[in-house]
Amino acid sequence: MTGEWENEGSGFQEDAEDEFPLEEAGSALSDRPYESIPIQTIDGQYYLVLSGENPGSIVPIASDSSNKTNRTAPHIRNESQIFDSDLPLMLLNLTGRTVDQGNELLSRLHAEYGEHLNLGVCASLARHNKSKINKAFDCSVATVKIADPEAFLVDHASLVLEGDNPTDFTNPDTALKVERRVAARSRRAAYFEMERSGIEWIKAILEAQREVGANVFLTSGKSLRSSDFRQSLDEIIAEGNDAIECLEPGERLALNLTIPLDCILNETFFNEILNELLEHDEFDTWYIRTQWRPDRESNQLKDATILHRYKRLSELAEDEEKILILAQTGWVGWNFLGHGATGFSTGPSQNAQKFQQYAITRRRKGVGQNERFFEKSLLNVVDGSMHASLRNESDYVSCECRWCDEIDSSPLFSHIAASWHEVYCQGALSAEIQRSAELRRGGRRSYLRRTIDSALLFAQGKGLVGRENPTFLRTWRDLI
Ligand SMILES: [Zn+2]
Repeated sequence: MTGEWENEGSGFQEDAEDEFPLEEAGSALSDRPYESIPIQTIDGQYYLVLSGENPGSIVPIASDSSNKTNRTAPHIRNESQIFDSDLPLMLLNLTGRTVDQGNELLSRLHAEYGEHLNLGVCASLARHNKSKINKAFDCSVATVKIADPEAFLVDHASLVLEGDNPTDFTNPDTALKVERRVAARSRRAAYFEMERSGIEWIKAILEAQREVGANVFLTSGKSLRSSDFRQSLDEIIAEGNDAIECLEPGERLALNLTIPLDCILNETFFNEILNELLEHDEFDTWYIRTQWRPDRESNQLKDATILHRYKRLSELAEDEEKILILAQTGWVGWNFLGHGATGFSTGPSQNAQKFQQYAITRRRKGVGQNERFFEKSLLNVVDGSMHASLRNESDYVSCECRWCDEIDSSPLFSHIAASWHEVYCQGALSAEIQRSAELRRGGRRSYLRRTIDSALLFAQGKGLVGRENPTFLRTWRDLI
């Protein structure tokens, strides 16, 4: 071995799907057979396209004569119906090359689970170009459309982020990538070049979201700072009030809070955040992103302090009838649906599910990625050989999604199909939380308790070690 390494990194990078091998990322959706399902709209019966060309669109005639399904997709709620409903909201974070697959995923989730689940898309103004955002927003079942300004991307003093200065990198390829990323950000989101406060700043932030067709508007999302915490919190509240002044009739605003690790861990600071949210009744929607420490021992967050704080936040939101969206949280966000949160954002990559402190991780060149498969029975990810072994167990919970069919019918493991399967499961289990709460006394918490208990039981005696052993679930269970 020559000691050549590739950087993998962590954090929320330019195009998170670059984590996948290129040849796989190219498996285009247009190769997929056309499939559609009848859908009732106010204008009569139409068809929701599930796969083939333009998944997520609604067409008058199904060109798929082989469609023998007797099912009809549920009616699509409009934006105000979504926020008036108590249903969970899953937002799909737009990643690198995935617009078609994302639209297919959302359409299939709506067709199967739309009765108990609201859906939306979250794009990044800094990391995605306008045509990609337009295509992602052009999905009929993605009712909530968020274009996140991500002003925190330059808050290097309070967050641990990938560097922005090309000269800090010795590897010329990395330096070039950094230079291109920073240039693209300035080109796509001109507000990164502005003074970061005042009415002109927030006007530019809102206008950038309006231009791409967002329907839930965010404040900038610049980070809180532990060095002058009180002032940074005041600035964010003032920015929110400025934003309310600049909204046009009918526009909905969410207060966008980015909380660094040292602020979420500090009890005094955390209490101040809660007090401020409680006091400012003008903000009915909270969009909150918290930075975590990377954890090599666990696939999911198990820091008890942070988890307890998410719980308090979720309970406050429920008590005060506020809409809480836990941005970039994946399964962690799903877990807090059971404690009072309304929604979470996720996506088909680790970065889309976790906002972690940036850390360089290295992988030997030529060494492939591990096969990672999400197991519903375990609520955790395992490698390919463990997956093969677990599925012979009598109490195994299998998945019927179309990405699992793809994995089973191919001799090569598809990392991309496996990641879409995981996101599909997040949508399915979010709908389950709601469905179960409607059916049984005890509501969402009771469903969460039963689901976690059965995963812990399933894990016993299966020889799971390290990250495959879902020890984080014990901490999650203790919260209930
Ligand atoms: Zn599946």
